[in-house]
Amino acid sequence: MTSLQTLRVNGSRLWDSLMQLARIGATEKGGVCRLALTDLDRQGRDLVTRWAREAGLTVTVDQIGNVFMRREGLNPALPPVMTGSHIDTQPTGGKFDGNYGVLAGLEVVRTLNDHGVQTEAPIEVVFWTNEEGSRFVPVMMGSGVFANAFTLDHAYAATDVDGKSVKDELTRIGYVGSQTPGDHPIGSYFETHIEQGPVLEDHGKTIGVVTGVLGIRWYDCIVTGMEAHAGPTPMALRKDALQVASRLMQEVVACAHRHPPHGRGTVGMVQVHPNSRNVIPGRVKFSIDLRNATDALCEAMDADIRARAAALAAETGLSIEIHPVSAYPAQPFHGDCIQAVASAAEALGYSSMPVVSGAGHDAVYMARLAPAGMIFIPCKDGISHNEIEDAQPDHIEAGCNVLLRAMLERARLVQG
Ligand SMILES: [Zn+2]
Repeated sequence: MTSLQTLRVNGSRLWDSLMQLARIGATEKGGVCRLALTDLDRQGRDLVTRWAREAGLTVTVDQIGNVFMRREGLNPALPPVMTGSHIDTQPTGGKFDGNYGVLAGLEVVRTLNDHGVQTEAPIEVVFWTNEEGSRFVPVMMGSGVFANAFTLDHAYAATDVDGKSVKDELTRIGYVGSQTPGDHPIGSYFETHIEQGPVLEDHGKTIGVVTGVLGIRWYDCIVTGMEAHAGPTPMALRKDALQVASRLMQEVVACAHRHPPHGRGTVGMVQVHPNSRNVIPGRVKFSIDLRNATDALCEAMDADIRARAAALAAETGLSIEIHPVSAYPAQPFHGDCIQAVASAAEALGYSSMPVVSGAGHDAVYMARLAPAGMIFIPCKDGISHNEIEDAQPDHIEAGCNVLLRAMLERARLVQG
């Protein structure tokens, strides 16, 4: 009799699978370049689905190329407990981003098979098409269509730099399925992922219990002053757009500090006009990226930065415009899934801490459809989207054990 208490995944088998998949599109610096809907993506898909069939899973594909690999439950009428991620990578991607979440799901299934464990609800492992958004925009394409965030036709029409469309490339690699995206129930959804940030490593914790994904507000800010000669114009008579802009840039960072612990404020792009050594800048355009854990906090940061801008404009007499560019709502995860991850980590004796995700994931869209949660593990120096992306085998194994336990809690272990 296998009990939940003693059931563990096979960490070395999971590691071996990760290393095998990483050979497809391997780069010289030890990373992976496997862009969505390329021949290499097809080879990766073929390998993972072959492994799935060998593990006795039923493979189905939907019209945007999302692949579902199902292990039947004792009660097939129940919606499946689903886990997964993506296997496409950035051009200078690593071995773990996305791939870990998919292969951890496969390892959960292999472990259940090894021990003859059955579950009440079916279990499904999924990989979503084009999560990275590197070759085709929008990002998180497959899960976005599935969650009806945008239409199938919108996704199909996206083209790469050579003008090749998603529809044509998906057809070419043989992954246009017959299922209507979203026409597929989900009981609950878990995604295991490297953190892609430095927090877990900094705190020396093994498991990040992800409570949600930060909301994002993007703006363009334009400060208008007056160009004038840098020599003859006395300081008191200037309208220096860059001096005023730089004060507001400081406020962007201060605004994040005023909304802790998850507030983020970044100025990443600056254009100075006329950008000449001996001309007082007449116009500065810069980007503002504000993030926080709830929409209310994002709203508060929005009001905060606008108030600072208004005060600065009144004080200096220069015009300051703040234009919204795009916004993504914060996505808290479901309390039951967060709790399932936290208690699994505790029962397994792994150190853990609550964390938020500053990056988007397929789980964001799944959280609109079903109770969802994520499990983070540390990655070396917090680096991802880089060929040197790295993770430790014992962390890889730990995250998968947490996934196994959390999924079994939701799918109900029946017998072993
Ligand atoms: Zn990812």
